[in-house]
Amino acid sequence: MRRLLPAALAAAALFACTSEAPQPSEPVSPAPASQGPSEGPWTGEQLTDRVFAHLEAFQRIADGNAGTRAHDTSGYDASLDYAEQSLARAGFTTSRHTSEAVVEENSTAAVRVVQGTQVDLGTVEPMTRTPGGEATAPVALTTDPLGCTLDDYAAAKGAVVLVQRGRCPFTEKSALAHEAGALALIVYNAPGQGDLRGELADRDDLIPSVGISDAAGAALAAAASEGGIVVQVTVEESRETIQVTNLIADWPGTGDGDVLVLGAHLDSVPAGPGINDNASGVSLALTLAERLAAEGRADGLRVAFWGAEELGLVGSGAYVKSLSQEEVGRIAGYVNLDMVASTNGLIGLYGAGAPFEAFSAELERHDVGYQVLSITGASDHAWFESLDIGVAGFYTGAGEPLSGDEAQRFGAPPTPHATGAITSPATPSTRSQRPRSASASATSPPRAWTA
Ligand SMILES: [Zn+2]
Repeated sequence: MRRLLPAALAAAALFACTSEAPQPSEPVSPAPASQGPSEGPWTGEQLTDRVFAHLEAFQRIADGNAGTRAHDTSGYDASLDYAEQSLARAGFTTSRHTSEAVVEENSTAAVRVVQGTQVDLGTVEPMTRTPGGEATAPVALTTDPLGCTLDDYAAAKGAVVLVQRGRCPFTEKSALAHEAGALALIVYNAPGQGDLRGELADRDDLIPSVGISDAAGAALAAAASEGGIVVQVTVEESRETIQVTNLIADWPGTGDGDVLVLGAHLDSVPAGPGINDNASGVSLALTLAERLAAEGRADGLRVAFWGAEELGLVGSGAYVKSLSQEEVGRIAGYVNLDMVASTNGLIGLYGAGAPFEAFSAELERHDVGYQVLSITGASDHAWFESLDIGVAGFYTGAGEPLSGDEAQRFGAPPTPHATGAITSPATPSTRSQRPRSASASATSPPRAWTA
């Protein structure tokens, strides 16, 4: 943490510049920043201390609110209040952005072999945002197992198509299968990857789509290649309308000029306080905003804290969709902070365009080792990317151990912070199960995972 944060802070501060204790159950108020502008730029140590003060506040908020800060809980509301007060105190003009959004809840899926060789299909997962439906039809294979061009689906008409994960997003496979006249899509995982939980873009040209493991897929493909196998695919979708609230803060002097948006999701998963995921991103963003404001360098900085990220990037999506063309045009770049406090962390940088270039140049200038990640669609930056806005983001890891290479490069886990009252257990999160590498087409909404 001590090793990781200062570099990220320095880089983030530089980019922003060049782009232009309370009791549980009671409100947690922001502590004043201990250093003023007259004392000059902070050291990395001072910045890290400030980040930890915010992290501890979020831990207290969780402790006072049934241990969570998830969407639609008092812990989320208290987090909103805290972030709002912190930004207002630093001099920003804050506003709450509330809208309605449709989210998927508990869709279910099943696949049953009704004719031909019985195959154990193991866990069948509905893809997020899959259309519902039922189909009983022969299993067809694509000519190329990855099925990324329409030609691959020559045998798909009236069939349930089986394809392998990889090369193109699941959304692409589902749309191609639909175009070829298939009734349902089964995607099996890449070799050695186990069960498959995929996500689709929110489009209306898709068919019921489910994921199965690599082993089940290989067995089903073998059976299907011999012919005569008929399956029944059943997908029940369940959707719910929710109210999501984001917090947006602008520097008062910015006027109609261009802005750099510094964003982080404010909600946790229901199962924990969400200190790494993502009080860490919020605390870092708050600290940067406070510091840049104190140093008179906050002109053009917009801070955005997103709601309901854990339900599928809901808050950031609602915000981006609400923007006029003119407002989109004012956004010079987006910087995403999601999970930047892993105790076994690496310095992972993702994104494209000017913000990404600025961060990588700055890290290299300071001789800070980092790893370029491709996590398109995994966090709120995806919505900005879909508008062709340049983005950059940091990710230092979830609960997963470093790989051998990463451990060599980034070292053993650092010792806990000296003031460390960060007592949260590793937050259970779907993020830790997400692959490090993914791709989605620039025009499709987020989270269209592929290998
Ligand atoms: Zn997160």
